[in-house]
Amino acid sequence: MLEYDFTFDPSKCEECGGKCCTGESGYVFVTPYDIEEISKFLNMDFNEFSVKFVRKVGYKYSLTEKIQKDGKGHACVFFDEETRKCQIYSRRPKQCVSFPFWECYKDDFEPLLKECIGVCKK
Ligand code: SF4
Ligand code: SF4
Repeated sequence: MLEYDFTFDPSKCEECGGKCCTGESGYVFVTPYDIEEISKFLNMDFNEFSVKFVRKVGYKYSLTEKIQKDGKGHACVFFDEETRKCQIYSRRPKQCVSFPFWECYKDDFEPLLKECIGVCKK
């Protein structure tokens, strides 16, 4: 189990409005298990869901993204721009569930302090 030098308060997400789901173009990687779970949640067939919402990135798969209506860059395809919330929150991919406790932030979490208001130095 990795130990981190920061804590995270998820109650800040409400106030933040989804900074980690928006902005620069990026990847929200999904496993076949994620695809299965999200498609079931949306009452969609696995293949139908994959064609509509998944793109191949090298040997991995990512959710697709959209351009935000307010012109502030990209957003994950499941980010609701009106409510500023995730539309699949209870079935969001592991990458989203584990944020901000990613291995890449284990040794250097300074960039996170600027990006995520829920992160606090211990
Ligand atoms: S950037 Fe941080 S506070 Fe904002 S929505 Fe993402 S996890 Fe929550
Ligand atoms: S799946 Fe949800 S939590 Fe993950 S990036 Fe997309 S909108 Fe954000």
